[in-house]
Amino acid sequence: MGKNELEAMEAELRDPIRTIGVLTSGGDAPGMNAAIRAVVRTALAKGVKVRGIRRGYHGLLKEEIIDLTARDVSDTIQRGGTILQTARCQAMRTEEGQQKAAAICKKYGIDGLVVIGGDGSFAGAQRLADLGVNTIGLPGTIDLDIACTEYTIGFDTAVNTAMEAIDKVRDTSTSHERCSIIEVMGRDAGYLALWCGIANGAEKILMPEEKDFDETALVEDILECKKRGKKNYIIINAEGIGDTMNMAKRIEDATGMETRATILGHMQRGGSPTCKDRVYASVMGAKAVELLMEGKTNRVVGYQHGEFKDFDINEALGMKKSIPEYQYDIAKILAL
Ligand code: ATP
Repeated sequence: MGKNELEAMEAELRDPIRTIGVLTSGGDAPGMNAAIRAVVRTALAKGVKVRGIRRGYHGLLKEEIIDLTARDVSDTIQRGGTILQTARCQAMRTEEGQQKAAAICKKYGIDGLVVIGGDGSFAGAQRLADLGVNTIGLPGTIDLDIACTEYTIGFDTAVNTAMEAIDKVRDTSTSHERCSIIEVMGRDAGYLALWCGIANGAEKILMPEEKDFDETALVEDILECKKRGKKNYIIINAEGIGDTMNMAKRIEDATGMETRATILGHMQRGGSPTCKDRVYASVMGAKAVELLMEGKTNRVVGYQHGEFKDFDINEALGMKKSIPEYQYDIAKILAL
């Protein structure tokens, strides 16, 4: 018997999925609503009931569970944030919390669960899969720090938001011939910083992944650039490095060049998702439902080499991702 025939036979023997739950967990990201909408409408189109779980795992443990209809997700694809809201939940990290969460899923007839979030949220999904709830993870984070995928829901919007904000800072920085240090989000990952560094033509990108950061060399470079006639000096500082305010003061003292710090902060999380985030999140949401209908569990949807694929969550969590060195080298050359 061939692999396809075997899979078809197994599918017939399995209990069909009747109810799918969906939740958003960890930090919010623009495009999460597009993913929720796609989960709801794809499931309903297949005759499957959908339940929305509010406030991530916290809401699951508190049984904040609502039925979702096609109309409940009307007028949401263009909205930032998450209509289901999100939270961090310490209790879900404990075995007791995980067992309670699985029992609540069973109580509400949720036999398939779509978890939209980052690596931490996937770790929770993996535990639920072990406890018999079919789970699929969708990568939702502005940090782009999920190893199994080249795309995460929200990164495209966040990087465009940051880029536009930095353009504005640059205008005033040039007028006043200042040095500007702009802190972008990304926690321990430098993807937002790297992309903005290239897109905004920054003189320097400081990323957590670059271990050999030397502030003395930075000061010398600022003075050198001033000699070469540069009208401003833009530094993109990744959140993981931090200390932006104090760094601005130290640089001003060392260079004599007026130096201002701008921390972009939570504005990078909000706003209407870009076309890419709406489309990719929609495809991923639909794929999550299809995977559940095929009887798959403990999988995460990713995007690699132009294709939407799914990976075992355990393997996905074990993968490592590194900053593309080539892009980083190019950024240095373009800062000349
Ligand atoms: P972001 O990248 O936006 O921060 P994330 O999903 O990685 O998203 P976390 O705060 O790490 O964010 O995790 C979200 C939630 O997932 C946690 O609050 C917790 O409820 C659950 N979680 C995290 N790690 C685990 C774990 N090891 N086991 C079970 N649940 C976990």
